[in-house]
Amino acid sequence: MPERLGPPLETPLFDRLAIVGLGLIGSSIARAARHLNLARTLVAADRSPAVLERVRDLGLADETAADPAEGVRGADHVILCVPVGAYGEIMRQVAGMLARGAILSDVGSVKGAVLAQVRPLLPEGVHLVPAHPVAGTEHSGPDAGFATLFHNRWCILTPPEGADEDAVARVRAFWTAMGSNVETMSAAHHDLVLAITSHLPHLIAFNIVGTAADLETVTQSEVIKFSAGGFRDFTRIAASDPTMWRDVFLNNKEAVLEVLGRFNEDLAALARAIRWGDGDALFGLFSRTRAIRRGIISSGQETPEPDFGRRRETP
Ligand code: NAP
Repeated sequence: MPERLGPPLETPLFDRLAIVGLGLIGSSIARAARHLNLARTLVAADRSPAVLERVRDLGLADETAADPAEGVRGADHVILCVPVGAYGEIMRQVAGMLARGAILSDVGSVKGAVLAQVRPLLPEGVHLVPAHPVAGTEHSGPDAGFATLFHNRWCILTPPEGADEDAVARVRAFWTAMGSNVETMSAAHHDLVLAITSHLPHLIAFNIVGTAADLETVTQSEVIKFSAGGFRDFTRIAASDPTMWRDVFLNNKEAVLEVLGRFNEDLAALARAIRWGDGDALFGLFSRTRAIRRGIISSGQETPEPDFGRRRETP
């Protein structure tokens, strides 16, 4: 039994929950929803027969469906847990099967693109309540999920203007039951905030690991051997799912390019400080960033343990 999840609900929040895409996030929702009794029936839909077999082996759902249209039939809560680039294709398959009054939600890391791809295909009477759990790991697939993934993490809801209040409240209750702190904002604001807090850090990690791998005078074995010097933490982030991250950058182009422009300017200022020996500028920035790190720890979003709590290699 997961350590930090509450007791199962006496009355489920939903009758029939359909999860489309049983990867890290979809399978984590399935685990938590089953443990907490959030739905009477849980249906897992995935295009991959191997994933569905694993879902059955792990007992993550009551029913499985290879066809997403079959999977969402009769569901009162449908959650898309596939890369955002696949939303249009999935919507074209499931739209005709969505029940009137059902809630259509998702977990995508970009929100403006959800509205753009999903809204035009949304049948009358289906309530769209996009969500983004700000929680994850660098691993993928149904074996990577775990029920406590969303505990004490933020989940951002971006209901479009005029969204059904009851539907929003039910999605909020769903994520709160899984231990998340829920906040609501516009899709555009979400995309700008996440561009700086998540998308740009990933881009930097992908870039720095790529640059190190390409350095001709530094061998691969040295990159691995001396990786504790900061580089190792970038390699963890840079191991994240290539499909998901390709889709994030292609679907949050404007916000990412805007924060990247700011980042490049600030980096140029740092280079100038180093070139001209401006120690005060460097010290000032590093002091500010240290305070930000301490703020993240005191808000409970990170462990205070040295080296991210990794086990020490020497006694
Ligand atoms: P994942 O572990 O790679 O799982 C994605 C699932 O979607 C897989 O079952 C995959 O099937 C399926 N899929 C991929 N492309 C598809 C397509 N074109 N049509 C139908 N199914 C398709 O990914 P994840 O980390 O759970 O991410 C899922 C969503 O959560 C993404 O939108 C991502 O932005 C969001 N998210 C991720 C994180 C994170 O840290 N990972 C955090 C918050 C939100 P195959 O195995 O057959 O490809």
